[in-house]
This record gives sequence, C-alpha cells and structure tokens, in this order.
Amino acid sequence: MDLKAFIRDIPDFPSQGVLFKDITPLLKSPEALRTTTERLLQMVNGEVDIVVGMESRGFFFAPILASTLNAGFVPVRKSGKLPGKVVEETYALEYGQDTLEILEDSISKGDRVLIHDDVLATGGTAVATCALVERLGGKVVQCNFLIELEFLKGRGQLNGFDVKSLMRY
Ligand code: AMP
Repeated sequence: MDLKAFIRDIPDFPSQGVLFKDITPLLKSPEALRTTTERLLQMVNGEVDIVVGMESRGFFFAPILASTLNAGFVPVRKSGKLPGKVVEETYALEYGQDTLEILEDSISKGDRVLIHDDVLATGGTAVATCALVERLGGKVVQCNFLIELEFLKGRGQLNGFDVKSLMRY
C-alpha cells in the first residue's frame, strides 16, 4: 500500500511558506491506519518499556504502538499543560524558541524508550525530547516518525540515535 497517497499537502499552513503534511486522510482510512501501525511496529527492534509521543500529532500513534509493544505511553507537552512536577527543555525555532515538558516521575532510570512523532523536520522537537528522556535516566532506543522532511536535515541533529521514518520527502 502506498501510504504517501494518504498524505495531503497544505500550502502556507500554519504560516506562509510552510508546506504542511496533513496526515488526517491517513488516520481516517481504516486500511491506511492499520498498515501504518503495522509498518511502524516492524521498524522497532528490541524491548521497549515506554513510548513517548510529542504534542500533539505524536499522540495519534504513540499509544497504539505502546499498547502492542506492551509498553506504557508518556506524553511530552508544550509548557504549562502537564500537572505536577516537570522537567523542561527549551529549543530554538526559526523565529524564537519553544519549551517542552515531561512529568518528572514518568520515566524510571534504565527505561528503554521509543520516541514517536508524525513529522521529523529540523529535528528540534525530537532532540529536546531525547534530552528530556535522558535527563530522567531513560535510554532512547529509537526515534521513529511517519514522515521525514529530508531537506531540513533533522536526522543530522539526532546523531547517535536510531532514527527511522516510513515516508521521506
Ligand atoms: P521540528 O522540530 O522542526 O523537527 O518539527 C517537528 C514538529 O513540527 C513535529 O511535531 C511536526 O508535527 C511539526 N511539523 C514541522 N514541519 C511540519 C510540516 N511540514 N508538516 C506537518 N507538521 C510539521
């Protein structure tokens, strides 16, 4: 099945000059949803204790993967959304900066962690998420994505990590 047929390009969203990769057609198709899940699972090797998904489109598949891998799901969120004690990482955007947070008690030392998001673009989000997981003592065993925008070279920012993607542009 050609999963790229279920990705819709939206020009100038959410801002001028961005070609947004919309995955809602893929989520809506039962066959594409199932095939995507199967292919993401095939990319995983070894044991996983926790699947971390990034707000917000990482939340679609991360819990599905966790459930099949017999792992737990942990959300990484934008600042101020998580209740309780958090650790945070601030990272640079093209204009300005952003902060991601994770609950301090959500990962235990030595946990094997799979990180999942919909799109790998510049890599800032994934690098910050890996840093959060490592600060809590987790070991990042893989970062996987539905889509990799190769021209933005995010993979280069994730040096030393196992980076996998289903669709590349
Ligand atoms: P980055 O930190 O630059 O790798 O950006 C990754 C985050 O931004 C992911 O959480 C994506 O959901 C989102 N993102 C970045 N670029 C796009 C795009 N062209 N289409 C859809 N989502 C994007």
